[in-house]
Amino acid sequence: MKLPVTDIAANEASIENLMGHDRQALEQYFISIGEKPFRAAQVLKWVHQQGVYNFSDMTNLSKSLRTNLAGKVSFRTPEIIKDQVSEDGTRKWLLRLQDGNSIETVFIPESGRGTLCISSQVGCTLNCSFCATARQGFNRNLTSAEIIGQLRLANQLLVNEDSQRPVTNVVMMGMGEPLLNYDNVVQAMQLMQEDFAYGLSKRRITLSTSGLLPEMSRLSRDCAVSLAVSLHAPDDELRNELVPINRKYPIKELMQACREYTKGLPHQKITFEYVMLEGVNDTDAHARKLAKVVANVPCKINLIPFNPFTDSGYRSSSMSRINRFRDILMQKGIITVTRKTRGDEIDAACGQLAGKFTDRTQRTLRLQHQQSTGDIL
Ligand code: SAH
Repeated sequence: MKLPVTDIAANEASIENLMGHDRQALEQYFISIGEKPFRAAQVLKWVHQQGVYNFSDMTNLSKSLRTNLAGKVSFRTPEIIKDQVSEDGTRKWLLRLQDGNSIETVFIPESGRGTLCISSQVGCTLNCSFCATARQGFNRNLTSAEIIGQLRLANQLLVNEDSQRPVTNVVMMGMGEPLLNYDNVVQAMQLMQEDFAYGLSKRRITLSTSGLLPEMSRLSRDCAVSLAVSLHAPDDELRNELVPINRKYPIKELMQACREYTKGLPHQKITFEYVMLEGVNDTDAHARKLAKVVANVPCKINLIPFNPFTDSGYRSSSMSRINRFRDILMQKGIITVTRKTRGDEIDAACGQLAGKFTDRTQRTLRLQHQQSTGDIL
């Protein structure tokens, strides 16, 4: 299979990469070089809709402008180094970034839609106890170019194969906590919505967060996309253990922030994600408590069977337990769906994404030390 390649001159790290510039930023750039701002729309269309990165091929730009741009700026995406397809059609790409780190992006085809799961950070700092990305530690935030580059690459590859536009929905649910990389994530999401780029509506973009309250409120003003919140427990004691950021932003305040988020968006519901961990958070009592906790928030609940990884220490609840849990919530009038596990045999399911990178937090080392000696470093 032929993978899209960016132009060779453009791969030089020293040249400014405009891939992550939204329309406003690109207009500013053209103004700064004495050009008319409408050039931004022309170039956006070439890059994001036609997959053309070489200025020499952008035939509606004047020859002198094309020459002027080439060598000065470029459009570059990460590079695909591995492409895996699972039995259910889920596809996972391992992408290498310019600094040698790598991240993962997942495409989930369903009838009538195709969802791309995008990463926002190299690793994650949040340390949720059941997540494989957390085990890897953290290296850095992705740039807006690296975030939108995942969509550009996926669209281009899939279009080449199917001759139709395949990505209809985006979920910011890959590696990392998107709200801890706020500016770059928002800029990339602006490009996703831009008519001259991908033209996705806010409803078709979902950002998943573990619940960072100040950034949630900023997001509702700047770019109110659909919001998913990783709840996973119905009380602070358990959530502190599973999602440690809860110590800073406890459940009561989180629910208040969720209500606020939906206020400006009358038809919007928050999606609460709830990973089903056997014997940990999956009893009837947990379900009843959960129903009470979310009672005043316009919401639906997404139950996620736990996706295992080596030494996780957890097991998924059985399907019958998950169904019973769902029935209790439904009886209380809460729309509840169980998320289908997709692509698990290629480790592409929720929480299994890892990539390869240098852990600047040394979390892996600390964990190994702890396991072998019992001491906490
Ligand atoms: N940092 C964001 C995005 C993370 S991944 C957040 O916390 O929402 C997206 C979802 O997958 C989150 O709800 C996350 O809690 C869940 N998840 C993580 N590890 C998982 C695992 N091993 N099995 C199932 N779901 C998992």
